[in-house]
This record gives sequence, C-alpha cells and structure tokens, in this order.
Amino acid sequence: MDRATLVGLDKQHVWHPYTAMEQYIAKTDPLVIVRAEGVWLHDADGRRYLDANGSWWVSTLGHRHPRLVHALTEQLGSLAHVSLAGITHGPAARLGAELTALAPGADRPDVPSEQKLSRVFYSDNGSTAVEVAIKMAAQYWAQNGRPRRTRFITLTGAFHGETIGSTSVGGVHEFRDVFGPLLFDVVHVPSPAEPDGHARALAEVKAALAADPDGIAGVILEPVIQGAAGMWMSSPDFVREVREATRAVDTFLIADEVFTGMGRTGARFAVDLAGVVPDLLCLAKALSGGLLPFAATLASERIFQGFLGAKDRALYYGHSYCGNPLGACVAREVLAVYRDEDVLGQVQRKAPRVKAAFERMAATLPGLVRPRAVGMVGAVDLGGGGYFADSGWRVYEAARRRGLYLRPMGNTVYIAPALNIPDADLDLLLQGVEDSLREVAAG
Ligand SMILES: *Cc1c(COP(=O)(O)O)cnc(C)c1O
Repeated sequence: MDRATLVGLDKQHVWHPYTAMEQYIAKTDPLVIVRAEGVWLHDADGRRYLDANGSWWVSTLGHRHPRLVHALTEQLGSLAHVSLAGITHGPAARLGAELTALAPGADRPDVPSEQKLSRVFYSDNGSTAVEVAIKMAAQYWAQNGRPRRTRFITLTGAFHGETIGSTSVGGVHEFRDVFGPLLFDVVHVPSPAEPDGHARALAEVKAALAADPDGIAGVILEPVIQGAAGMWMSSPDFVREVREATRAVDTFLIADEVFTGMGRTGARFAVDLAGVVPDLLCLAKALSGGLLPFAATLASERIFQGFLGAKDRALYYGHSYCGNPLGACVAREVLAVYRDEDVLGQVQRKAPRVKAAFERMAATLPGLVRPRAVGMVGAVDLGGGGYFADSGWRVYEAARRRGLYLRPMGNTVYIAPALNIPDADLDLLLQGVEDSLREVAAG
C-alpha cells in the first residue's frame, strides 16, 4: 500500500495519543515508518531519522537489537502465552529470580531481609505497574492494622501513568484536571526540581507525615528525573531524605522508575544513586527493550508477607497478559545484554558529553535556559514563554529536516536516546539538536 493511501486510512480511523486530532488531520504530514534498526527509523520515502527519544523512552538498546529479536523468536517457537493462574513457566520464574537479584539493596548485608525487594508482580505497562503498587500499599495497610492509611503523597509535576489510579497520584494539571471529579484525594507537595524546591518539598513531606501519620499510605515519586513534567531533575539526596522521613513513621516509599530505571541515569536504578531501597519499585518501558509491552512491580518481603494467611487477604488483582512469556523472555535477554555489553558503563562514559553539549548550547544560543543532564538524558528549555508551543513545534520541524526525530515536550527540548548509541551517532544527534535550536533561535 502506498504512503498516501496509508496516511488517508490513518486520518480516517486512527485516534493518536496526546494529539489534537483536528490540527493533526488538517496539517500534520506524519512520518510513515517502515523499518527501524538501532537508533535509526526508516520511512516510506527511503529517508532515515535518528530516534532522539528511543520511541517514547522504551528503546534503550536500540531498535531490534539482534539478541532480543532472537530471544523473542525462540520463545515464540514454544510458548507465546499462558495465564499465571495455577501455572508457572520458565521466563516468569527465571526473570523473577534475576530481577530480585539486581534490585536495589539485594546485595547489601545491611538491608534486613524483610526490606529486600524479593517479590515480583507482572503486568503490562507503566501505568499498571503503578496501579499495582498503589493497590498493594493500600491493601497492606487495610489488613495489617493501619486501615486509615489510604492517602498518598505525590510531587507537583509527577507523572505516573494513564489509569484513573495512576492519574490520581499524578501532578501534571493538563493531564489530570479534566478528570478531577473521578480522582482520589492525594497530598500534593512541591517538586524538588523547582527553584528552592528541595527544601520546601522535604519540609512539606515531613509536615504531611507528621500531620497525619496514621493516614498516609506512602510517598510515590519518580526518583531524580520527573520525565513527563519536562525532564525536571533533582538531587538523589532528596530521595534519601524522603526515605528517612517515611521510615521515621514506618510508611511506604514507592519508586516509579518506569522512565529512570534500566540504566537511564547511569545507575541501574535511580534510587541506587541515593543508596535507597524503596518498598515498591515500578518498572516498564525499557524493561522489555522496546519490543513489546511488559511491566513489573517489585515488592518488599514485608509487603508480600502482609498478604499471607486467609484467602480474603490475597491480592485480588491480575491482568490477562500477566507474566506473558514473550515479554518475560525478552526482559531476561535485556538484563543479559546490559551485563554483556556493560550498558551502565557505556552510559557513564557518554554522559559527560551529553551534559557538556547542553551546557554549551545554553551558553552560546539565545533564548535557552536551564540546561540540565543526568546520564543519557539531556534537556534545555526555550525561554520567553507565550509562544512556546510554536517554538517547540518549529524545533521539531527543523530537526526533522536534518534527519532527526526530536519531539519537544512543551517548551522543553530533550534527548533520551538508546543507551548504547554509537559515539558517531551521538555526535550527529547532539550536533543536530544544536543546529535545529540555532535555526529556530535565528527566527
Ligand atoms: C511512561 C511512564 C509511566 C506510564 O507508563 P505507560 O507504559 O505509558 O503506561 C508511568 N510512570 C512514569 C515515570 C513514566 O515515565
């Protein structure tokens, strides 16, 4: 089918995510991608584009990494899917062992065994990984002596997913306000990434815990980088201090590492930068290397123990594709590739170049503010406000003409490419971002 026909069908039938469809149908000439390999997207016109955001943050090993494709194909030869009800299988059981062995604190003798993240609950995506964590925390307290503990503390700008539960703990007004009447009540505190935010956020977390220690089920946060807010970055110290505050009243810390996990920051998990062991850890996106939807919520041994006993104490929760063998098998191979190709080492080696490039752009181009970087994530904001939506769009167009797929979030221009991006391609990417910003800055 030719390109024009495909686009016609798309515009007649497909409702795109996060897209103003009237404008899209009237004005957008979408990329039509026919193939993707490594960091490159290939379109129907034979042009290629460097994927600057790893296809919405999932593709940390590049597209179609040969080992992942091989593992998936092999698994498809024997078992594509079966429920986890009274059944187990190799990929789910072995991934459970491998993930818990790599979990924050797993190898630390000073971490008591009930605090270790020794249990894994599988689901399909980041939103469900968070939904699982919320339900586990709430039910744990309900049946373990603290039934009033039903409220969560969450940060301004937080993004935890799309379900009503994960939207309830979110803090991005554009995504949550329209659903306001449907959302459950949470305690919002400032983001540590705001100017002077660190001290204020910590003080408000402590105040909220002190005001109602018997009502707070936990604090949920995206450690170190609040991705969807616009790559807001804060110190790992904040995570450590919140951990101390939650321990002081014995309530939970939920780390949503759907974006920051799997090496994005140069550590395996962002909480590792702080030496923190959360009670619940949410993983998705890069966990399955950009091949298929798959997620895991890791829970402490203490939480798991709180669901034992009579049948009515069980977690009555599970999705159709829970523990899907294809997803679990690919996730195992992802972990193996990280080990064999020293992906964390690669990030640590390349990170200084990302940081230096964004600092240089902000120093030399007009209108750029707040350059920032952690690991393989670099970002800068287009200052000036007001016209920001338009300038973000112009950066996208300028980048596209240069063979770069770069989608700003509002007025934030950022990169979150594959962690194993070859050095020469990283140079192309950083140069392409700089040239695109220069073009737009020149008006
Ligand atoms: C993307 C994201 C989610 C939601 O994941 P989906 O797979 O899109 O449902 C949740 N939390 C964080 C931090 C994310 O970046």
